Amino acid sequence: MQISLEDAFRGVTKKIEVPRLETCPHCGGSGAEPGTKVETCPTCGGRGQVQQTVNTPFGQMAQVTVCPTCHGKGKVVKTPCRECKGQGRVRKQHSVDVKIPAGIDTGIRLRVSSQGEAGINGGPSGDLFLLIEVKPDRRFQRKGDDLNTSVDIKYPQAALGCEVKIETFDGFETLDIPAGTQPGSKLRIKGRGMPRLRGKGSGDMNILVKVTISKEPSAKERELLEQIAKEMKVTVKNKEGFFDKIKR
Ligand SMILES: [Zn+2]
Ligand SMILES: [Zn+2]
Repeated sequence: MQISLEDAFRGVTKKIEVPRLETCPHCGGSGAEPGTKVETCPTCGGRGQVQQTVNTPFGQMAQVTVCPTCHGKGKVVKTPCRECKGQGRVRKQHSVDVKIPAGIDTGIRLRVSSQGEAGINGGPSGDLFLLIEVKPDRRFQRKGDDLNTSVDIKYPQAALGCEVKIETFDGFETLDIPAGTQPGSKLRIKGRGMPRLRGKGSGDMNILVKVTISKEPSAKERELLEQIAKEMKVTVKNKEGFFDKIKR
């Protein structure tokens, strides 16, 4: 079953179809077509068991086994029910609500009982396994219990420090970016990752800092950048793409 990362974060209840064996409504569970007779088994005479004589190293011995004709029921159906083919029970699909716990990850199998109770490996016994696949999210990449994201800031913000809003599943968080942050730095907001499936607490939100550079600086921006370059004693190209002689 595919679920979204946000559903995996919060936990979710999903409706699924579960097959369940029910008493056949056509024959009422007898296995015989209505209006036909159920007869006493001619092989065992209704006892459900037969006695056989077998040869053993100790001589002939009597062995009691389940009747091969009626399989122990003692009765035989002359005309099997056409709905259940004489089984007395039919497999019916019925829809159950499955609670998918918060923190679930791709590859985890949930055991689902016919009542819809779901348990992680070794949970309540049931008759169906649900394989979970968590779909990728546009905003966050999951790494175990952590979530990874990135933020774009402009170079003055990286150089002088700033505050940015970071989206989490619990709303926006303010992240302090210290002065002198380098492109590619990784910052962290503790406890804003995925809830831990086993155990308490949550993973972290890791933020990759990307520093963007203006592709077409305005005239004023260019003028200021040239001043910064001069102050830093580095050579830069002028507007026409040539190097100016920088006074040293
Ligand atoms: Zn039936
Ligand atoms: Zn029998």
